[in-house]
Amino acid sequence: MQKIILLIGILFISIAVNAQDIKAICNQINDLNTQVTNGTIKRPDAAKQFKTLIEQIRNNKPVLTAYSWVFPLKGYKSNAIGGTNGNGYSDKGYNYLDGNKHTAHPAHDIFINDRNQDDIDDRTHKPVDVLTVDDGLVIACSNEWEPASNLRGGKYIWIYHQQHDIITYYAHNQAIFVKPGDEVKQGQKIAEVGRTGYNAYKKRSPTHLHFSAFHLVNDLPIPYNPYQQLKKAKTL
Ligand SMILES: [Zn+2]
Repeated sequence: MQKIILLIGILFISIAVNAQDIKAICNQINDLNTQVTNGTIKRPDAAKQFKTLIEQIRNNKPVLTAYSWVFPLKGYKSNAIGGTNGNGYSDKGYNYLDGNKHTAHPAHDIFINDRNQDDIDDRTHKPVDVLTVDDGLVIACSNEWEPASNLRGGKYIWIYHQQHDIITYYAHNQAIFVKPGDEVKQGQKIAEVGRTGYNAYKKRSPTHLHFSAFHLVNDLPIPYNPYQQLKKAKTL
């Protein structure tokens, strides 16, 4: 009996340690991502570190390819996506390792009804919830941003979806409610839409969520156009 209790104890501790490890790795990715964003790390070093870290939190189960998303803005659907038929997306020349200096727009801007630019939805008179499109693990985020900052993402969140081996990115939030290492469930509120970020803060920019999706190619994030997935996503 005592042996069984001991065994259960050891098992419990090892699961707890594992969760701690995952949190620690996510915090390391977060630190690395901050360095990449700020351009304070050499590209080859950043690439090497990113690969090493992501491999440690990758689950080696077969990747699920058939799945559907929840639309990342509560109460909104794909007609809120900027451009025509998803042409707001352009990844030519983009490189994750360029950080804040990256070119192109490997993303969709999803606009809310906010004519007076106060971050409050003109229809509901409430902030708009940003929802995670699928279950995942928060690998990086920033809850700090000042209007004088030249950082473009503002208050942002990066989520790794282990089951599909993809990453999603949510930028310009007014407030975020997660931290690196948090496990999130599909449709969970992770933030509220805002105007944080160098360009998003300017008057000429209507209030929106900047949303991106990335495959991991050779363990580095490579953007892809998620327009069809967003079109088919379920509105909460
Ligand atoms: Zn954008």
